[in-house]
Amino acid sequence: MDMSYPKTMKALVAYSATDYRFEPEYPVPECGDDDILIKTEGCGVCAGDLKCQHGAAMYWGDETQPSWVEPPFIPGHEFFGTIAYIGKNVKGYEIGERIAVDQIAPCGECRFCKTGKYWMCQPHRIFGFFSEYNGGMAEYVRIPTKHSMIHKVPKEMPFESALLIEPYSCSKHCVDRAQIGCEDIVVLSGAGTLGLGMVTYAKMRHPKKLIVLDMIDKRLEKAKEFGADIVWNPSKVNVVEEIMKMTDGYGCDIYIEATGHPSSVVQGMQMIRKLGRFVEFSVFSGPTSLDWSIIGDRKELDVLGAHLSPYCYPFVIENIANGNLKTTGVVSRTFSLEEWETAFEYATGKYGDFKVAIKF
Ligand SMILES: [Zn+2]
Ligand SMILES: [Zn+2]
Repeated sequence: MDMSYPKTMKALVAYSATDYRFEPEYPVPECGDDDILIKTEGCGVCAGDLKCQHGAAMYWGDETQPSWVEPPFIPGHEFFGTIAYIGKNVKGYEIGERIAVDQIAPCGECRFCKTGKYWMCQPHRIFGFFSEYNGGMAEYVRIPTKHSMIHKVPKEMPFESALLIEPYSCSKHCVDRAQIGCEDIVVLSGAGTLGLGMVTYAKMRHPKKLIVLDMIDKRLEKAKEFGADIVWNPSKVNVVEEIMKMTDGYGCDIYIEATGHPSSVVQGMQMIRKLGRFVEFSVFSGPTSLDWSIIGDRKELDVLGAHLSPYCYPFVIENIANGNLKTTGVVSRTFSLEEWETAFEYATGKYGDFKVAIKF
């Protein structure tokens, strides 16, 4: 190994659900022959990172489910950086280029990977939850090129825009699942960072009307700025009634659920028309109760899920760069890695933030 190779780095390390530590001198991962080592520029804090740090059973397991994460690991999957070292087998990259990677690290061998459906890869390794796939809350990240979907990021893309590549890619996949046509009245429930990515991309699909719902007015203002035709706060407006009025009593054609709150599911099922399309994006903290006969007997709905961001990064990078996808003001605050606890607190949104990120 050459003498200039860095030995230690600042890193946030998760040792257990209750033990996250800032390490000022954590060992820099070795850059193997098939690896790229990037110097991290920034890493967004995701709701998933918060849930994991709060010890959620879907990450750490409980009586009914096994642990999915493999500690010790460095959190963070919303990262990008510049190439610092390149393994000798890796072709097509240069030191100093900027890259981002899909959050999932496909195994390449399971049934899903072998049929091109890499985002549902069975072992489901995601950067930032496994010691073999450490994430971006460290000065360096090892990218194993054989298990990574790598994308080049233009040099001139502003830091705040590049941070939105991962979230907006998830937004795009969700909206693609909705198959929006130009005669569709689309209701999107939830205008957080991911919801805003859905607004700006859904607008590119030219729906007849794009209606955005959220309980926080500040988010609705941003949704309007990003292209929503109508914004409503369900705590102030009877949204089901308004949609029925607007559609001669039929209901909306498409409902996208991006809040993770059971009431948003029930509301969507009420306002969607017969033969409509319901897309579920969110992660919920508990079960939702709903009369399932709406799906079959009453309305014959298409109910679809959306997970991660298959094949979405190239489009998102290109359209953030050319300004078609709006990003202004979404990254609302950045922190140094030393301040990770404060960053995680702001990332809950309790001070009115959209995306909070670590900046190196
Ligand atoms: Zn995320
Ligand atoms: Zn796989």
